[in-house]
Amino acid sequence: MRDLAARPELLSLNTATVRERWGLQEIIEGCARHGIRAISPWRDQVAKTGLANVSKLIRTHGIGLSGYCRGGMFPAADAAGRERAREDNRRALDEALTLDAACLILVVGGLPPGSTDIAGARVQVEEGIAWLLEQARPAGMKLAIEPLHPMYAADRACVNTLAQANDMCDRLGDGVGVAVDVYHVWWDPALESEIARAGRAARLFAFHVCDWLVPTTDLLLDRGMMGDGVIDIPRIRGWVEAGGFKGHVEVEIFSAANWWKRDPDEVLRVCRERYATVC
Ligand code: ZN
Repeated sequence: MRDLAARPELLSLNTATVRERWGLQEIIEGCARHGIRAISPWRDQVAKTGLANVSKLIRTHGIGLSGYCRGGMFPAADAAGRERAREDNRRALDEALTLDAACLILVVGGLPPGSTDIAGARVQVEEGIAWLLEQARPAGMKLAIEPLHPMYAADRACVNTLAQANDMCDRLGDGVGVAVDVYHVWWDPALESEIARAGRAARLFAFHVCDWLVPTTDLLLDRGMMGDGVIDIPRIRGWVEAGGFKGHVEVEIFSAANWWKRDPDEVLRVCRERYATVC
């Protein structure tokens, strides 16, 4: 396993972690100050700061992108909605290419409004990814399906286990893989074997860390700092690295009541420390 304390350059910051207090330019400058060499920014932050500006800022500060957040949200109630989703994904792909991201993260989407057909939503997801893949593959941009915890199946992602994501990747072929986010998959009894399966297919594209707090008080915005919860992060990282993953360890914390309220410089210091000691 890689020695993270000796490899600070492997730390990446998902920019959602400090987005409440800093704009993207401040985040990039802050990461440079704290010796964080990679980020994974969100599209709305990039739009606000300007794509060309962001592109220049990351080059100036020597910061890479461990991923780009995000494409997906494919299912829609009608053909026009699906077409709009595809156009939006096409733009996300172009932005990821401009910023030279390691992969485009896909949060695939849940049920269309009014629908109770989760199987149908999953078919729409797979069709949407197949469509996007036709453009991503020749452009050389990897697509990373991020399975989300089942509590998000209705509104964010109807791909909820690594097994399901692996099955989808098997059918879709080259160029699409998975993002393993410990928050979403830590509970899965099949996690070790499914990570190994993804490793054998060389489709481990991203690794996200935070922690699961007990109790969790908000379904979306109460993620913990690594070391404050119940996830055995080193064990999962060991599986991911045994599967051949050589990329960044990306810290992604949505925490409205705690970390988002703190001074971002303090948050980055704690991220660095916990990355080196508990991940
Ligand atoms: Zn994630």
